Amino acid sequence: MAGLYFHIPFCRKACHYCDFHFSTSMAGKELMVEAIIGELHLKSPEWNTEIFETIYFGGGTPSVLSEKELGRILEVVNTQFSVVDNPRISNIKSIPEITLEANPDDLDEHHLESMRKVGINRLSIGIQSFFDEELKFMNRSHDAAQAMTCISKAKEAGFEDISVDLIYGISGSSNQKWIENVERVLDFGIPHISAYALTVEPKTAFYHQIKKGTASSPKEEEQEEQFTILVEILKKAGFVHYEISNFCKPGFQSKHNSAYWDGVPYLGIGPSAHTFQQGVRSWNVSNNAQYIQGIENKTPKSESEVLTSRDIINEYIMTGLRRLEGLSIRKMEGYPNDVINIVLSSARAHIDAGRLILAGDNLYISEKHRFLADGIASDLFLMEGDI
Ligand code: SF4
Repeated sequence: MAGLYFHIPFCRKACHYCDFHFSTSMAGKELMVEAIIGELHLKSPEWNTEIFETIYFGGGTPSVLSEKELGRILEVVNTQFSVVDNPRISNIKSIPEITLEANPDDLDEHHLESMRKVGINRLSIGIQSFFDEELKFMNRSHDAAQAMTCISKAKEAGFEDISVDLIYGISGSSNQKWIENVERVLDFGIPHISAYALTVEPKTAFYHQIKKGTASSPKEEEQEEQFTILVEILKKAGFVHYEISNFCKPGFQSKHNSAYWDGVPYLGIGPSAHTFQQGVRSWNVSNNAQYIQGIENKTPKSESEVLTSRDIINEYIMTGLRRLEGLSIRKMEGYPNDVINIVLSSARAHIDAGRLILAGDNLYISEKHRFLADGIASDLFLMEGDI
């Protein structure tokens, strides 16, 4: 099984904290859709032995695509690739998870209906906050009223598998506002929440504002506090905290992201999109004009790297420790130089301090210390010469 990812590099406004690849000019949208279709045709021969189980439109803001544009892309996917539940794969009875990331200002009744019509069956809505002052601070393209109404409209349109993105630890916010943000999502009966701490990435507007002193940096202790609040509220509401930033009602885990973390192959289409297959990771150029030109010339502009055993294990440690089940020690068997003992010896201080728990085959982060997952994982990384 494999995953298919589309990077749609357009946004209506540049959020101040965002360092993803996107353009706020829609002028090249039609050419981009042609190039994406062109890349699908170019890549299909080398991917014809894979069966795609999940399709994910990310970005950028894929909800800027029209029904016609989405429909054309999905039609090419179904004719050029093997997808579960596709007539070409008659022996597999399953439905592909087809997710589309959307911003509230794009979600009117008509567009929601169009998305359902072309086959989108999971929506990931970038709400981030239900407070106007926070949305303005982040330069989001929607306001609080749109954040509220789009969820009701999505449900009325028949979407059941909905995820909402929220941001915590916003400079100048408060625990009370954060609690209200989380509770509003719960009031809507949303089955999946992704919550991220506000971060300061180089080259973003937020970074420059902080440097100039016109905005204040998010405070780590406030972020940790709000993360703890989030975990407590969602636990009480019956959510499974299946990955450090992801919570779901049983059965509503993101199949696409879970497959990434399981190391399944994935094909990324569009500028800046990443692909992973047979130990090689490649990524397309992060420039719309160069991407389109490369596809038109049938020589896609991309770079690649062959992952070493050390890279693969370190990525497994990072993704594993971010997940509820943690690392399976057995999965690291078969590597030379006693990898398991090296990792367990690096983990010892964290185990003794109660930050990591070793139970049978599993090594996982204790509930109380999950906010520290990335730092703990990096302490366990293999160094050069270890393998
Ligand atoms: S809408 Fe999403 S991708 Fe676009 S600028 Fe905002 S956070 Fe970044």
